[in-house]
Amino acid sequence: AARQHYRTSPYQIQPADVVRPWESYRRNRLALHWDPTPSADPDDQAAWTAELVGTRRAVAAGIAQPAYAPAITSSQERINPRLQARLDQIGSCIPPAARAALAPFRPARAAREAAVAQGLPDALSVRCEWCLAPVGEPCRRRRIGPNDGVRAITPRATSHPGRVDLAAQQAQHAEQAQQPALA
Ligand SMILES: [Zn+2]
Repeated sequence: AARQHYRTSPYQIQPADVVRPWESYRRNRLALHWDPTPSADPDDQAAWTAELVGTRRAVAAGIAQPAYAPAITSSQERINPRLQARLDQIGSCIPPAARAALAPFRPARAAREAAVAQGLPDALSVRCEWCLAPVGEPCRRRRIGPNDGVRAITPRATSHPGRVDLAAQQAQHAEQAQQPALA
């Protein structure tokens, strides 16, 4: 800031000549920064906040590089290893207790998770040939209006039987492919 001041101004340097560029530097850096998810336990409010604030301060002061939104640079941004360990442990960003509480409100997903837990084929891993629901989305039911137009599409809690069979076949194929000696 001092060098810049003497390059462009004939006047003696004042505190404001340093403070103003420094503040705009901090502001510009923070404008580029998206808070990455802290690795602290989300239930530990103090630690969570401290990590967020610490990261922001480091970015503002130029110690750390700004973190971009993961949606924009998903492949370049590595997940914090501590956070990854936590995710691996839980298996999802939704804690198990919250997942159980949510189950009644998302019957299709709950059914899928129950099937996977019991070792049954995951019907949502294949496309439904009946209702054309894509992979990962529950089967759906169409409500037809009075003049033949499709009024609404509502997700079904259970998959169409053909889809379950298809998933079972695929699981079998995958197993056979994994054990060619036994086959
Ligand atoms: Zn279907």
